[in-house]
Amino acid sequence: MMELLVKELINAVEGKLVNGNTNVKITGISTDSRKITKGELFVPLKGERFDGEDFVKDAVSSGAVAVITADLRNVELLKDTTVAVIYVKDTLTAFHEIAAYYRKKFDIPFIAVTGSSGKTTTKDMIAEVLSKKYAVLKTGGNFNNEIGLPLTIFRLESYHQIAVVEMGMSGIGEIKRLKEIAKPQVAVFTNIGVAHIEKLGSRENILKAKAELIEDFGENNVIVLNADDDMLVRLPQTYRGKYYKYGITNGDVKAYNIEKDERGVRYVLKVRELEKRVELSIPGMHNVYNSLAAICVGLEFGVSVEDMADALREFKPEKMRLNIIDGGKIKIIDDAYNANPDSMKAALTVLRDLDSKRKVAVLGDMLELGEYSKEAHKDIGKFVLECGIDVLVTSGNFAKYIAEEAKICGMNSSNIFICKNNEEANKVLDSIIKEGDLILVKGSRGMKMEQIVHHLQERV
Ligand code: ATP
Ligand code: MG
Repeated sequence: MMELLVKELINAVEGKLVNGNTNVKITGISTDSRKITKGELFVPLKGERFDGEDFVKDAVSSGAVAVITADLRNVELLKDTTVAVIYVKDTLTAFHEIAAYYRKKFDIPFIAVTGSSGKTTTKDMIAEVLSKKYAVLKTGGNFNNEIGLPLTIFRLESYHQIAVVEMGMSGIGEIKRLKEIAKPQVAVFTNIGVAHIEKLGSRENILKAKAELIEDFGENNVIVLNADDDMLVRLPQTYRGKYYKYGITNGDVKAYNIEKDERGVRYVLKVRELEKRVELSIPGMHNVYNSLAAICVGLEFGVSVEDMADALREFKPEKMRLNIIDGGKIKIIDDAYNANPDSMKAALTVLRDLDSKRKVAVLGDMLELGEYSKEAHKDIGKFVLECGIDVLVTSGNFAKYIAEEAKICGMNSSNIFICKNNEEANKVLDSIIKEGDLILVKGSRGMKMEQIVHHLQERV
């Protein structure tokens, strides 16, 4: 992070300096008192379990030279020190105001990626493609919320030429807040599924919530969208900007002649008269879409298709996202990172398309689906059958509906195992897995499906 003066912070936030002096320099910003280093600003935030305000003292002993606080007890605590103390009404708002201020110091384009599934993968592919030509800052991991986005912005350095940030949301108003901080020039929409439908009620509302990203876009802004998504294609009627539409069936940036096997997916990219073979070293039709989104952004910023094809060939996803682990006797498709109905289907399709002696799906609950939960799980049960999966193991109270529906649809019940939790599922797997099995492991983050992946890895 570039150095900031306390003076600048006071101007950026709605607050008052109640201790220390305005010329104090800060070299970094942290919200975690355990990670603070000398010379940094500490911003205490309220978490699920802890209140950062309780750790102001620790932060100062670890070297914080400035503190934002909304707690008068901390003002009192620091009054005889040299620490700069800025008193505000709300520390999270102040955190956002500082991030927005810091972002404005950099006259570089921001690309924001949102959508129901594939945000992180698409963000990483975009960064990979742009890195062929620019010094790129990207969201680390999945830091896509009101805390992660500012922390990403504080990593901006003077050498960065472009930034790619992921924006997640679970309700109305969240994306709006993020876009006001990041001020993106380009918006990328992966798809509109049913993730977070519990809070938002319908796909229309999910679209509306995500479209907050582009509500004040003008002719100079760029919108990249998946033209095969029935909801996203409605955006051009309402929002201004230069559009890139990608897809397999629809769109101007298209993939055709798609081939897939264990090594990955390959296709021919077609943009107007231009054609180029693209190879991905990762499986899944959904990754064809994710890569097309990245190509659109690359085209906008003048990266050559040759360079883009090189970047995509080398692309590897983050851990626990559709990683194929070759254990010799068995193969594991590790997609334990998270699940919603769309990504569950995407992963089952990968399992369907890969060759193996036997296909095993180990599926955990999909959480946060509210009243849609039962239906959504039953729908996956049907899909399991459509994909020709040989053995189904479910873990959790919702996932059992997947199993029940698969049974109703005609899957042989001796190939279905309903487990209460991962421990039980591991025991079942011990007794049933055979050489030549290809095993998909997937469930919502809260289901910790990696426990099953680790167990399988130890066994082989
Ligand atoms: P989160 O909301 O948790 O941040 P995300 O949108 O960032 O998720 P990724 O982490 O990129 O999504 O991918 C998570 C999983 O979703 C992948 O492992 C894969 O199973 C599935 N997935 C990825 N891309 C797509 C896509 N374009 N369409 C449908 N499913 C996808
Ligand atoms: Mg993500």
